Amino acid sequence: MTSTRRALCSGRAGTVGGLLLSGLALAGLVLTAAPEAPAEGADRADRAECAPTDARARLTGPAEPGRDGSGTLTPEQAAEYDRMLRDAAVHQSAPAKRATVPVVVHVISAEDGSGRLSRATVEEQVDVLNTAFGGGYGGADTGIRFRLTRITRTVDDAWFSDFSAHEDAAKERLRRGGAGTLNLYTADLGEGVLGASTFPQEYADHPDADGVVVDHRSVPGGGREKFDHGFTAVHETGHWLGLYHTFQNGCEKPGDYVGDTPAEAEQAAGCPEGRDTCADQAGDDPVTNFMNYSDDPCMDRFTRGQGRRMAEHWAAFRA
Ligand SMILES: [Zn+2]
Repeated sequence: MTSTRRALCSGRAGTVGGLLLSGLALAGLVLTAAPEAPAEGADRADRAECAPTDARARLTGPAEPGRDGSGTLTPEQAAEYDRMLRDAAVHQSAPAKRATVPVVVHVISAEDGSGRLSRATVEEQVDVLNTAFGGGYGGADTGIRFRLTRITRTVDDAWFSDFSAHEDAAKERLRRGGAGTLNLYTADLGEGVLGASTFPQEYADHPDADGVVVDHRSVPGGGREKFDHGFTAVHETGHWLGLYHTFQNGCEKPGDYVGDTPAEAEQAAGCPEGRDTCADQAGDDPVTNFMNYSDDPCMDRFTRGQGRRMAEHWAAFRA
């Protein structure tokens, strides 16, 4: 199986490691930087080179605040991943409605104790995943649940403070399980990034890179202002199960490839009320959806359609 990344950027030797920790900045930060400059980060640089002109404009535009960059796909990449899903789904019967995902959490911390999450905090993060995917905050029960199977602990100042530079080594040493095990890494991702994830379509070519990374302050009670309800892990795990951002493709069809999430021209920030950026299409913007970029207190839901799409990806690539 050929990854979209490789297909779109043939000849490039970019690793999926670069995919994982791209440098999308949070709202405010990017706006105080040079607005027209490409955001930093290997992923964004790679994608900007590979992307057609219109996508490049979206990637490097002045208002690109966000949780992550890894989930930001060009329309071509989103279409390619959907084609891979369709190809895989040809061989599957109706996907199971329920799945329990084993979770291995890798806590990376500094020698001074920064980032040393307690077991209780890790368990609370997994509880948040279960509540979110179960519809306990709002929205649909996706049928997906999570079971904490192991916690690993690594004390390493360099890995903790500059995870992206050590990501390949860290994952090579720490990663456990196969396509169906969620490896969740926590470290200090800096001020501009909350988290990152791989897509299920990338597993076949890059199994070692598979997993989710979140900033250690994004976990429940972690102290990251407006983003410490543990919903970064929810958002990234949505990508890990194949979901795109609700604002994927803007107002253009097929949007995020989910029928019950209204189209949205761009990501939300904060918690806007009554926003409707695709006025000629049905529905206000899904600002409370976990696959948006709103603040944690604003988010509370997945939709039934997103649940179905995650079940399809689970069956096609991870079960
Ligand atoms: Zn994302």
